[in-house]
Amino acid sequence: MPQKRSSKPTSSRRARPVRARTVRKPPTPSKAAASKRAKERATDRLETYNRLLLEERRRLREELAEMEQHQVKTEEKPVADASGYDDDLVDVATETFEREKGLALESSAQGLLEMVEEALQRIRNGTYGICVGCNTPIDANRLRAIPYARLCIKCKEREERLRSVAR
Ligand SMILES: [Zn+2]
Repeated sequence: MPQKRSSKPTSSRRARPVRARTVRKPPTPSKAAASKRAKERATDRLETYNRLLLEERRRLREELAEMEQHQVKTEEKPVADASGYDDDLVDVATETFEREKGLALESSAQGLLEMVEEALQRIRNGTYGICVGCNTPIDANRLRAIPYARLCIKCKEREERLRSVAR
């Protein structure tokens, strides 16, 4: 059982163990330094999101490649002819279901990959973290959880409401 961590989110920097002998005196705060630090933090954050997105892209590509292989395998298998036993019918049904589930998963992994690519594009052109719906900055906690988010939480909720109405 893994040790339970505090539910409070801490930055990875803070999570790193600090050795007593490397502890430095805190820097004297000044306005210029503070704004420089803020800028550095923003760049750091962007780099963190970039890293998260690249990692996610790698994972999704692997997942898709694996699924493709699996897909080929299931399609090579001839669908059992359903004449005869009930057991066979169940097998055919399960197989069809598994195949459809696989296709749905693939389309969602594909969709995610596209969103990840778009987010990387937004990092490159400097619009990352800005809601494409209302042009306001997306909450940092939301970006940490969903680095490929293109909508702020308000626009996302609105989109979901519209989608459930359309259904
Ligand atoms: Zn918005």
